[in-house]
Amino acid sequence: MSFTLNDLPLRDDLRGSSPYGAPQLDVPVVLNTNENPHAPSPELAKALADAVSDAALTLNRYPDRDALALRGALADYLGHGVTTDQVWAANGSNEILQQILQAFGGPGRVALGFEPSYSMHPIITRGTNTEWVAVPRGDDFAVDTDAALAAIAEHRPSVVFLTSPNNPTGTALDLDDVRRIAEAAPGVVVVDEAYAEFRREGTPSALTLLEEHPRVIVSRTMSKAFALAGARVGYLAAHPAVVEALQLVRLPYHLSAVTQAVAVTALSHADELLSTVADLRAERDGLVDWLRGEGFSVADSDANFVMFGLFEDRNRVWRALLEQQVLIRETGPDGWLRVTVGTAQETAAFRAALLRATGRR
Ligand code: PMP
Repeated sequence: MSFTLNDLPLRDDLRGSSPYGAPQLDVPVVLNTNENPHAPSPELAKALADAVSDAALTLNRYPDRDALALRGALADYLGHGVTTDQVWAANGSNEILQQILQAFGGPGRVALGFEPSYSMHPIITRGTNTEWVAVPRGDDFAVDTDAALAAIAEHRPSVVFLTSPNNPTGTALDLDDVRRIAEAAPGVVVVDEAYAEFRREGTPSALTLLEEHPRVIVSRTMSKAFALAGARVGYLAAHPAVVEALQLVRLPYHLSAVTQAVAVTALSHADELLSTVADLRAERDGLVDWLRGEGFSVADSDANFVMFGLFEDRNRVWRALLEQQVLIRETGPDGWLRVTVGTAQETAAFRAALLRATGRR
């Protein structure tokens, strides 16, 4: 008997949609999901294992439902006067975003974002039965604030997504533009700062807006700069009332005792974990210059990845790189590809492969 997805009582609005699907392939050079290429040191791995070992002694009990120790450590890391009651944590910032949509979206409501941007924003939006409205970015991939204000006036979104630095373009937002959008938006404004630590000098975080704008939510993650993607820890900073709202929708004990122990321990080694960020930024700037030197179009990047093009057949280039054991991401507007900044050796392998893939050498 052949039985497929279509034979299930799937929600009508989910029929025909596709899951998130960055390929996970076992090749030597993996530059496709914006991870930090530097694994924890053996000393840090030992500290994490010890913390897990301690947590294991009480795994018969549920974890701290409110993750207070972790939220305190995250507040200390963020600075800007952020307090524990302004911080919330979850299994990756994807879960943070989902909880935001569960609390503030829903049937009859609209979430609005500026595309191209992170593909999970519309997926999480639709998953919560919220309508997705996409406003196109300009040719420079910046958010056109006038167009944003017009779209906000037209659609009255309950949730606005601003991604800064943006994925996949790398574009950081001007804080004045975030402020204008926050003043105009009738609902919450989520500034997704997953790549905040990689910004170039002079692009401040939206954390500085929290005091004056109680409906601004800054979303962060330990998956990128902190090199902890496998641990699944995301968090937000916002008004304490936002945290109260999310507690209405979160599952009880959503963040395991093991995750909390790992995250707190990692934060106590923040200096070591973040020590790679300066190198990655320098590597990124070098890669942008090199790509431009080779005649590619390159979007300015404040993140740990670079979007470049323009290719008539980007899939052909993506495949030619994969044949050389280099995995990057086929994402972004037509004609563009995105590569994550890896170690110096990985970036060198990517450069050599790209030159061959595009017939330059
Ligand atoms: N926001 C953006 C803009 C991202 O690019 C990503 C990861 N690709 C996330 C959020 C989610 O990351 P995580 O769930 O690992 O925190």
